[in-house]
Amino acid sequence: MNEEKILIVRCGEVALKGMNKPYFERILAERIKKRLAMSGFGSSQVKRHEGLIFVRFPKDWEYEDVAKEISKVFGVASISPAVEAESNLDAIGEEAVKLMLELIEKRGITTFKAEAKRADKSFPITSPEIAKIMGAKVLKGCKVLKVDVHHPDVLLHVDLRHDKSYIYTDKLPGFGGLPLGTNGKGMVLLSGGIDSPVAAWMMAKRGMIIEAVHFHSYPYTSQRAQEKVEELASIVASYTGDFKLHVINILPIQEEIVKNCPEAETTIHVRRFMMRIAERIAEKTRSMMLITGENLGQVASQTAEALVVTDSVVKMPVMRPLIAMDKVDIMEKAQEIGTFETSIEPYEDCCTVFLPKHPTTKPKLDRIIESESKLDVEALVEAAVASENIIEIKGL
Ligand code: ATP
Ligand code: MG
Repeated sequence: MNEEKILIVRCGEVALKGMNKPYFERILAERIKKRLAMSGFGSSQVKRHEGLIFVRFPKDWEYEDVAKEISKVFGVASISPAVEAESNLDAIGEEAVKLMLELIEKRGITTFKAEAKRADKSFPITSPEIAKIMGAKVLKGCKVLKVDVHHPDVLLHVDLRHDKSYIYTDKLPGFGGLPLGTNGKGMVLLSGGIDSPVAAWMMAKRGMIIEAVHFHSYPYTSQRAQEKVEELASIVASYTGDFKLHVINILPIQEEIVKNCPEAETTIHVRRFMMRIAERIAEKTRSMMLITGENLGQVASQTAEALVVTDSVVKMPVMRPLIAMDKVDIMEKAQEIGTFETSIEPYEDCCTVFLPKHPTTKPKLDRIIESESKLDVEALVEAAVASENIIEIKGL
């Protein structure tokens, strides 16, 4: 009788990274360990073994609870609850029968198909033969079951390895991607909308550590609007772990713009300032790039022309992971990661405070630079950066 439960974690894309593979696997295992420790499953044992990660934990914990935490770790491709057996066909067969009897009772399965893999190529029997032998043993031990090679209720996997072998049926998907911390650091411009939290999440999924900056126009925007952003940041942090949220009141800049520049250009000017300020904060915090939730053509400030004009004020690369996505797909992603419901709460954003009635959709860079020359850009940026308020966002 097994005294512990086992989850096999597969590292997906990590497996493709050739030379880097052990490095990614090591970080992934550490991330899993950390996540389990933070969610009350700290006494689990996390071990890498022959390209897989094995998580062992006490028998009275539910597979689902532990797997749910692991599935949130970027770099995890899939997870299977597994049973362990000595690497001989009788022992494996015995465990396989036990597992199938359990599934007959729990799920009322009536058909199955056996599949086998040999990590240990020195094992004298080939994989198809092992599968056949397992199939026969299960049929003998579970009289109600039949083999169905096309549409089985359950796929019975046997993974034959050197020391021990593993038997499993279910594969729960992870998000894939790469482990956090394997791809630099980015500064996300986080609004209270649907898009930017998704953008942050997508970059983090590629291994990027993130930090965030948020602009408000208090007292035109409310305290509650800022709390909403903190809430969104916390949801993102439930995947990425703790991070800093830099909060900046952009109202003094907006007022200068409204006073000195053509009304139709207001949003474009504000966005140029946001990018400059975000870049300064990124430099200070050693972020390598900026991240926004911009999406081509979604609003006046995100036409191709407008993006050129906002981009030109910064040197850092600007990542726009949503640029070519359709809104419905972005919304679906927001649902999936859990930010959607918070994002749609109706609180005002600083961009809507001085929204022009007829915003320029095709701004010309020289015209914008011309009207901006009436402002003391450097002084405004410096003052904004100096007034930042840092909030520690907690991951779990
Ligand atoms: P979102 O749903 O992310 O708010 P949006 O469709 O409302 O996007 P805009 O408000 O024009 O689009 O903003 C485009 C991007 O600029 C946002 O995705 C975000 O990265 C950044 N941004 C906008 N407003 C703010 C803000 N108040 N603070 C920080 N970043 C912002
Ligand atoms: Mg917005």
